Amino acid sequence: MTEFDDLERMLHARRTELMLRRGELDQAVAGLGALRDANNDDEHDPDGAPVSGEWSRLTGIRHDTESELAATDAALDRISAGTFGVCASCGRPIAPARLTARPTATLCIACAERAGRRP
Ligand SMILES: [Zn+2]
Repeated sequence: MTEFDDLERMLHARRTELMLRRGELDQAVAGLGALRDANNDDEHDPDGAPVSGEWSRLTGIRHDTESELAATDAALDRISAGTFGVCASCGRPIAPARLTARPTATLCIACAERAGRRP
């Protein structure tokens, strides 16, 4: 039991959700790949463009899902390691309200704002 129990549960739930979504996206991307391969012989395939548009859209979402999954795993690792809620830049505690809104945050508000302003 730690002070981050609620956030840990939230992160685990999010992780399960992301894993499921990644599996679905993998299947959808594989399905599109098969469709694209099947259509390879047809130069005048009217579905060629929509398939590649859908392909970019799905692989984009898959990439975002993957990044969020990595951030979620990293947050869970920090909870186990006891470094969760500590700013990676200045070492000060991250405000609880910020962690509740964004459990994967690695920077306190001040450092995140500074980083955001950097050109
Ligand atoms: Zn900071």
